[in-house]
Amino acid sequence: MIVVENLHRHFGSFRAVDGASLHIKAGSITGLIGPNGAGKTTLFNVIAGRLPPTSGRVLMSGEDITGLPPHELFHKGVLRTFQIAHEFGSMTVRENLMMVPEGQTGETLWNTWFRRGAVAAEERRIRERADEVLEFLTIRHLADERAANISGGQKKLLELGRTMMVDAKIVFLDEVGAGVNRTLLNTIGDAIVRLNQERGYTFCVIEHDMDFIARLCNPVICMAEGRVLAEGTVDEVKNDERVIEAYLGT
Ligand code: ADP
Repeated sequence: MIVVENLHRHFGSFRAVDGASLHIKAGSITGLIGPNGAGKTTLFNVIAGRLPPTSGRVLMSGEDITGLPPHELFHKGVLRTFQIAHEFGSMTVRENLMMVPEGQTGETLWNTWFRRGAVAAEERRIRERADEVLEFLTIRHLADERAANISGGQKKLLELGRTMMVDAKIVFLDEVGAGVNRTLLNTIGDAIVRLNQERGYTFCVIEHDMDFIARLCNPVICMAEGRVLAEGTVDEVKNDERVIEAYLGT
């Protein structure tokens, strides 16, 4: 689904991504691991249109999507999770989900003034979808809570939920398990597996928790110093001498 070809992203003379090439297969949950500073987040940001590459290409199903802005990638079903921004904390959990769909009928002033019936119907539809998402994630009971008041783990679930408000094809998750307790981490893992199996989402997951990676991901890609070092099953990668050396070197 995604092919990254010889990607570079330099910051001045520093090569954060230094010739990375990799494939993400449609239907996979691909894990991206590597020591701190390996360039994983920078690679995500380039693929997801947040940072232009210095050179190299990103293809999606054969189409060149290098450097497309996030909203265009969004329309192609390429999503990256983001922390719930501070300013959305005062909105409820449900409202945070309802913000996501683009092209809502209520977007233009014309529609708001002249087609109130249509706007109300659209809002009902989006609200229903938000409630389905909350049900799926087992946090329906939090629908009317202010987003600022829910726990860190529940916020991670909400971030994942935002990708479910549209028909995503591939979702990039950056440390979705960071600081999350084991129970919620399992809930997040279950949701990822169900989205993968039932809705055909492809995932690429950056995560430090190796148990989480081992449970969910195949294949696993290990990066170090801006390049791909090894790829395979979690056991193959964990036992690869270059990988062990890269982790020991940090
Ligand atoms: P990882 O996610 O694998 O920990 P990152 O992609 O976050 O790695 O970072 C790779 C390297 O690039 C780090 O050494 C980091 O300091 C550097 N880096 C990341 N973003 C910037 C930036 N905007 N300006 C300068 N250096 C950066």
